[in-house]
Amino acid sequence: MNKTIIVSNRLPLQISIEEDKLNVTPSVGGLATGMKSVHADGNGVWVGWSGITDEDLDEDLKPKVNEKIENAKCKAVGLTEADVEDFYLGFSNRTLWPLFHYFLEYTKFETEQWDAYKRVNEKFAEVVLETIEEGDTVWVHDYQLLLLPQLIKDKRPDVTIGFFLHIPFPSYEIFRTFPWRQELLTGMLGADLIGFHTYDYERHFLSSVKRILRLDVNFNEITYHDRIVKVDSFPMGIDYGKFSNAALAHDNPDTKKSELQKRLDTHLNEGDDQKFILSIDRLDYTKGIPNRLRAFEHFLNTYPQYKEKVRLVMLAVPSRSNVPQYQKLKRETDELVGRINGEFSTVSWTPIWYFYRSLPFENLIDLYTSSDIALITPVRDGMNLVAKEYVATRTKQDGVLILSEMAGAAKEMNEAILINPNSLEDFATALDKALTMPLEEQQSRMKILQKRLKRYDVEKWAEEFFKTLEATNQIQEVAVSK
Ligand code: ADP
Repeated sequence: MNKTIIVSNRLPLQISIEEDKLNVTPSVGGLATGMKSVHADGNGVWVGWSGITDEDLDEDLKPKVNEKIENAKCKAVGLTEADVEDFYLGFSNRTLWPLFHYFLEYTKFETEQWDAYKRVNEKFAEVVLETIEEGDTVWVHDYQLLLLPQLIKDKRPDVTIGFFLHIPFPSYEIFRTFPWRQELLTGMLGADLIGFHTYDYERHFLSSVKRILRLDVNFNEITYHDRIVKVDSFPMGIDYGKFSNAALAHDNPDTKKSELQKRLDTHLNEGDDQKFILSIDRLDYTKGIPNRLRAFEHFLNTYPQYKEKVRLVMLAVPSRSNVPQYQKLKRETDELVGRINGEFSTVSWTPIWYFYRSLPFENLIDLYTSSDIALITPVRDGMNLVAKEYVATRTKQDGVLILSEMAGAAKEMNEAILINPNSLEDFATALDKALTMPLEEQQSRMKILQKRLKRYDVEKWAEEFFKTLEATNQIQEVAVSK
């Protein structure tokens, strides 16, 4: 039976070793849910890094760990500490991540790290090639593995390969600054189908292919040697049912309340006109957190009638804290929150509640369901799933989403209030509009958003990609037999 090989930087597993006791638990991220029908329920194998470096894995424990990984239908790619440093923290997160999010000033071009990137992509290729059998399909994910499709295609031209990029693809003017631009593009072109979240990213990619590689591009098909590579957009959805069901259960008076919910309730009951504005992201410079804080300050100065009537609940998840720009961002965020709270707080009101931590799913639902407004304003974001999750949890269809135009999600969420995250004015007027929006208007906007997100959830996303990949395969077969 033919199988599907899913490849991503990290395996959908959490492995921990405490006092020689080994724990392997599945991680329940959006991608793992989308892949469920091909991986967990189907005939699939997932290839990726386990999260533990070769140095940290005791030789005696290795067979046990591998056995557990294989039982979870996964296959591990071994990475050393140097690989993680130069390939992951280095080239992936200090070169590709900032460049593809238009942060040229943060982008480092270092040959040594590029060499590590190539080396690790080859390590992934080795494991995939060991796993492939005739008739298999490979689906590669994301910016850490841009060279992998061609490395596989070189050795196994018979295998159908799909690639999906989960971050933006930048415009040609940005991409052309990248020293190894040809290699990266040809690496991606090893795939038979290349998917992006939005039509704009697709367009940017095609433009780079045309101008850098001078290849023939016909609408969304690239002629590359004797093959046709198809490019298309597939906006990733969320596990809609999981979020809406959790919110319904949360509404149920019999459900036990969390400590966080009890605290939220106390504050919500202080005054009926007290409104919660929610902000949730990883602490990443692409998410526009300092802009958002400055804009909130500007809003309180421009509309002083909202003092003591609104509260910004800001949740920032620690991320990549060993990369210097993230440390700088953390300091800047701490300072801004301190300054704004110092400036506006009264004995009975603190304008910003700031949490810097990861929270269990149950508490995320508490926050989504207790907030009147979600303020999601990245300066650049491939998609942004938080915006979609907020919508899915609005069981009474009330609430307003304020969303940055720079998030991929904005392309499908026109009924949100869309703003330019660099405009303090846009922020202030959008917040005022959201705070005064009549309930009927909130509900009519929310209903449309919910219908769309429910229909195109993460499983549907994976299904659509696969269907298109299969169809691409048939086109190739016809082309070969002609
Ligand atoms: P990114 O992938 O860039 O981090 P997304 O918005 O696309 O941004 O996805 C973030 C994911 O992380 C969402 O699924 C969200 O539910 C989850 N998340 C956000 N904040 C927290 C938190 N504090 N604790 C746990 N999970 C979180």
